[in-house]
Amino acid sequence: MPAARFSVERLVHFQCEVCDRWWSIGDAPERDHWFCPWCGARLETGPPLPPLAAPEPSADPADPA
Ligand SMILES: [Zn+2]
Repeated sequence: MPAARFSVERLVHFQCEVCDRWWSIGDAPERDHWFCPWCGARLETGPPLPPLAAPEPSADPADPA
């Protein structure tokens, strides 16, 4: 039987404080600065943003009211 091959990637989302636009880099290395791909600003690596929102688990998974 053929296999379903897969890989796991850590996807890091960045937000520029100059132009407010976002970009993402898979398996981004640790760095002390980045350049915004949208406006070209040099940006210090800031504190992490809150995790992306996940849906609240419902009491009954079969009834996602
Ligand atoms: Zn920017």
